[in-house]
Amino acid sequence: MCGSDTEEVPLTPPGDAYPAVGSSIETLRATVDAAYGQGVGANFLPEDKLILFNSIPFEDRAIEVVADGRILGRTFYGPSSRSWAFKPTIQGASRLAQLSERKRIQADGGAVGPILRGGSLLAAGILSADESIQPGDEVSVADPEGRVFSVGSARMSGREMLEHRRGMAAKIREAGHPQEQSILPGGQSWDDAARANEEVLKKREEEAINFVRRVSLSYDIPKSVAFSGGKDSLCTLLVVAKAIKDFKVLFVDTGIEFPETLSYTELVLERMGLKDRLVSKSVGERFWQAMKIFGPPARDARWCCKVCKLGPTTSLIQEAFGGDCLTFVGQRKYESQQRFGRGRISHNPWVPGQVAASPIRSWTALHVWLYAIREKAEMNPLYYRGYGRIGCMVCPSGEMAEFHLLERTHPETAKRFLSDIEAHGQRNDMPDDWLRLGLWRWRQLPPWTGEKMREFNDPFASTEQVVFQEWRTDSGMVLDAQLGECDRLRVANALNALGRVDDRNGRIFTTHSGIPMEVTAEGRMVLGPCQNRDLLWEVGRKAAYCMVKARYCVGCGTCVGSCHRKAIEIIDGKSWIGGECTHCASCTKLCPVLTWAVREPVNPFG
Ligand code: SF4
Ligand code: SF4
Repeated sequence: MCGSDTEEVPLTPPGDAYPAVGSSIETLRATVDAAYGQGVGANFLPEDKLILFNSIPFEDRAIEVVADGRILGRTFYGPSSRSWAFKPTIQGASRLAQLSERKRIQADGGAVGPILRGGSLLAAGILSADESIQPGDEVSVADPEGRVFSVGSARMSGREMLEHRRGMAAKIREAGHPQEQSILPGGQSWDDAARANEEVLKKREEEAINFVRRVSLSYDIPKSVAFSGGKDSLCTLLVVAKAIKDFKVLFVDTGIEFPETLSYTELVLERMGLKDRLVSKSVGERFWQAMKIFGPPARDARWCCKVCKLGPTTSLIQEAFGGDCLTFVGQRKYESQQRFGRGRISHNPWVPGQVAASPIRSWTALHVWLYAIREKAEMNPLYYRGYGRIGCMVCPSGEMAEFHLLERTHPETAKRFLSDIEAHGQRNDMPDDWLRLGLWRWRQLPPWTGEKMREFNDPFASTEQVVFQEWRTDSGMVLDAQLGECDRLRVANALNALGRVDDRNGRIFTTHSGIPMEVTAEGRMVLGPCQNRDLLWEVGRKAAYCMVKARYCVGCGTCVGSCHRKAIEIIDGKSWIGGECTHCASCTKLCPVLTWAVREPVNPFG
């Protein structure tokens, strides 16, 4: 559009840049103001320029900032201080030096060479320094001609640098020859950017539309689009609506959706004339109830997705389509390592019956934004309120920056969530930092949390453990477990998965793999006798799982889709096996309760 050549920007991988809009860029300007003086942020990152953010790996939220095709710096969130810190690159620091005297040190000619070779800035090599510098501050170092050639972190105050004349004044992070400033004229809008990239967007759209048509012809099952309220699902919906006529829009309200997302979903479907295509399901309070069983959701124990999203999606597919369906999803390979490795067509074991196909798999976030702008499609307003990704309000994948933002934007939900987590922490004697630093987001804490903290790993690995005692009799081995209080009707129903159940005189009998089992009126489970110890334990494990499912089922619906006989229904929020059951035990394989609320049954005698 401007007639000049394009230039590649060496973004930090995975390199999924997106427009810096709304309160995110305002927060960054305020961070720059706090360090360099009032009004500097607005001049450094002017409103009439297109500024990009690129999320980069860090312990919490961290963003690379790009303008004029240059990386100007990186901003990092500190969960303890609840604040952001901006660390400019040499390019960014050079620009800041034109706007503010603050945080600047001038080195003498003799100090330049050693710094360029990787050394630190010593106080002896300083000509002048901003006296407001404090230890730990980000500083830029200029040569005797005033050209910034390095950036780093102060190790002493500005006054000490001038008075002491010895010791390390600043640890240098990046050094290089002074860079030419390439401050381009402003005045561009994101509409201009979309127009400038029309050819690219057109090609992406054509390819995605062809993909949707091709896949739709290959799968002779009902078609749908999974809509979540995020930008990726929006673009998928836009593409699918252009490609095919006959499809539904699936939306699962996890019960912890942002209210903005619920109204935005209505708005998008209304504007696109797709309201009558919506098939949706709401799971109400399930997340909060399930947290009592599973403990806090964690990155390595994401029961929440299964219980509140994937299971209900399985049920929804059953209800809407009576079986299988092809769903177009907005998954992109740049979103995560896991998604990078996934094919364009995939099957999630937690959503049996669904074939997921991703038309925009190789699009970057910038393609997605520009495409939505080109299509004049409105984005979820939450993107303008500082949220980088739109999902559930409380998600263990979120950074503390997002949780602290939630405390400001949706204080009631944040308060409810934190008080539930705090109660779990107190019950398990977790230290204050576990809550304060959001360490509940892991069962196995990551290395950066330190060895002392990792002693607290895995506090909620299981709710239930079935302990079998093993006996030898003349006819073989017997397993025996005391089950405690249980709903006999539900236990009898759950055991149907293993064999035909006979419920008489307060005793429940069944047989699986030739092994008899009984649940006594007193709540004891006895299996055997059996000569094959391994087989006995295998059946014992399945029986224990049935018992735990009977007690803790959260009604997610995953097992509904895994039953080829369609024998399972969710009644009063819990699964119920009907008369069509053939006792194949398939439904004892995939259930969040079995994955996250029960450990392997144990033998107390080893
Ligand atoms: S998967 Fe269906 S048929 Fe098989 S045991 Fe479970 S309910 Fe019965
Ligand atoms: S038994 Fe079925 S409905 Fe209940 S938690 Fe397990 S998979 Fe979900």
